[in-house]
Amino acid sequence: MTQDRAAVLAEIAAQVRACKACRLWEGTTNGVPGAGDPNAEIMFIGEGPGFNEDKKGLPFVGRSGNYLEKMLKLINLNRNQVFIANVVKHRPPDNRDPLPDEMAACKPYLDRQIEVIDPLVIVTLGRFSMARYFPNGKITQIHGKPKYEDGRAYYPLFHPAAVLRNPTLEPQMEADFKKILDVIAEVKTQRGASAKPDKPDTNNNKNEPPPGPPKQLSLF
Ligand code: SF4
Repeated sequence: MTQDRAAVLAEIAAQVRACKACRLWEGTTNGVPGAGDPNAEIMFIGEGPGFNEDKKGLPFVGRSGNYLEKMLKLINLNRNQVFIANVVKHRPPDNRDPLPDEMAACKPYLDRQIEVIDPLVIVTLGRFSMARYFPNGKITQIHGKPKYEDGRAYYPLFHPAAVLRNPTLEPQMEADFKKILDVIAEVKTQRGASAKPDKPDTNNNKNEPPPGPPKQLSLF
């Protein structure tokens, strides 16, 4: 099953790299589909690729990535044991905020990645991924407070770049990060298992090919 999941994620990644469904691909070097363990219990969702991510085609590889890896070490994990993705898969010019139509165009890719990986915890990094699950949430009020829904936890954290800009947030970020293991334990209890098994195949179409590119592709 893991092999199938990896294959489906690879196919989604190939579609992302070829995607022109919104304007963001223009001027970029690489699409950044996401990376990590297809069987991950934790999935991090950031905002969009930055300069270094665009150059390497990988998420969170600059200073923010180094900080994220430092936080992962606190809970004895590394980036290969989690899955890291973004709301939009190509770098917005000059690191501007992604626009609503761009996020809508890119949404099918992220939705499918979540469906395939079926993580126990989705950790949102930054306001755009947070808004998917906490539409009216304010990060200063809800960071570190998990929401349990449908056998999964949604866990909002500060964006690493925000912590780097404002180091006074660092103790809070560390405390929130350390709670991730408790959040996973709670989800496992709620799913009625002491360990994540071979992910019960609640979704019969997991072995099917990934969806085609977003409909907007037909416009190009
Ligand atoms: S929809 Fe996503 S993958 Fe496609 S061009 Fe826009 S940002 Fe890139």
